[in-house]
Amino acid sequence: MAQYRIGQAILSPEQPDFDQMLGSAYNSRLRPICQCVGDPGVPMYIVQINGRFWLKRMPNTGRQHAIGCASWEMPEEFSGRSDLYGSGLTYDEDKIKLRLSFPLSRRGSQAPPAAAKSSTDKPSVQADIKRLTLRSLLHYLWDEAGLTKWPGKSTKRNWAFVNESLTIAADGKTVKQGDLQQYLYLPEPWVKEHREEIAGRRRERFAATSGSDGKNAHQLLLLIAEVKEIKQAGIGFSTVLFHLPDCSFIMDQKLHERLLRHFGREVRMWTGKSPGHIMIAATFSVSPEGSPQFEEVSLMFVSEEWIPYENVYELALIQKLVADKRSFLRLLRYNRPSDAPMPAFLLTDHGNEPVALYVIDAEFSLDDRQVEAAASASKYEYWVWSSRTHAGAVPTLPAPLPPTGTSAATASHRDPLSTQSSISNMPKLSGGSVPPVNQPSAAAANPAETGAHMSLDAGDPLEVGGR
Ligand SMILES: [Zn+2]
Repeated sequence: MAQYRIGQAILSPEQPDFDQMLGSAYNSRLRPICQCVGDPGVPMYIVQINGRFWLKRMPNTGRQHAIGCASWEMPEEFSGRSDLYGSGLTYDEDKIKLRLSFPLSRRGSQAPPAAAKSSTDKPSVQADIKRLTLRSLLHYLWDEAGLTKWPGKSTKRNWAFVNESLTIAADGKTVKQGDLQQYLYLPEPWVKEHREEIAGRRRERFAATSGSDGKNAHQLLLLIAEVKEIKQAGIGFSTVLFHLPDCSFIMDQKLHERLLRHFGREVRMWTGKSPGHIMIAATFSVSPEGSPQFEEVSLMFVSEEWIPYENVYELALIQKLVADKRSFLRLLRYNRPSDAPMPAFLLTDHGNEPVALYVIDAEFSLDDRQVEAAASASKYEYWVWSSRTHAGAVPTLPAPLPPTGTSAATASHRDPLSTQSSISNMPKLSGGSVPPVNQPSAAAANPAETGAHMSLDAGDPLEVGGR
């Protein structure tokens, strides 16, 4: 059970007055201390977003938390995110600055671009390897929202949860032009009785971008949503999204062709009716008539639990881990090429350190021995499932092991060298300043919501119950 020290009191998110206590700590400018590794604990901070209070971990402290703590962060070497530190991801005062490889505005007329921008998210352009592509931005927000973590216990997730988690994750992140929040468009969870208000808010949001900024550039919005279908309509394609039954997005023929070319694997899985959800990340413009049109798109498959996967073996492993109530973390590639060996998951309930789970599908370019060699080069325990030799049931996984005594866990997690090594390849981050206590939130996408809320680490909103 998570525990936080706020002033003299030890509080848990399970207690009924936790929201209230968090609100008063925010007002009294008290810093909460996570107790997962005992005293003196790991400092955190409180933010207010959309009228609710949330606990966030401070930059570079993720590895100081215990492996079972919602604020624990994986060893950076495993994630494609580490390749972007110092370039695509840097600290700028108390905000995290994202450098994108795609534009958030378009010059010229409102007419569709003569040639839609490439939808490829593969880092084929050398200069862009160190910037966030649409895919790597989606990966980053998924990680920051805690959607890549599965806590083992039964957890309910739906679009409302995902939407809120992504909104919190986007807070405090900036792009060249300003706050990321100002560009992000996540469809509101659709409620039939409120459909008119919801449509009104959407029209207002779209209308704000359909004008020019005075330099003849039109702002684009960044959509993250679940795709229902893409169907032929007129000379292009119409994309229908869940939670937006009364608004479809135009995709021109060229962009659709590129989509098929670059996401052939995803599209094949789709037509095979893979369970779960198909997420789209896209930039779009809005015509003067109010119709949204895609500029660039990227797709990502997620399981029923909204955990990303790349092939049916990874999906089978997710289903097995969830059914067995295991806690684990999904690792994402970001800009890492698809032929670079990396674990798909980390088991986080096998003692004090993670176990790397590798899944090899038949299309993978390296042979099994090369993957094993890469896996054994790491100091962490690993497990490999090759579908080439064993396509059937998921092989036996390392059994759950409780973490050893708090003191051992504490020592290992407080080791300054281990923290240092995890940040050594991100020079701009290691000197990053610490956010002030009670840093006020920047943009509130939906200020209508008010009232204190169950708090959690914004790096991982999994601890919220009852949603
Ligand atoms: Zn902790």
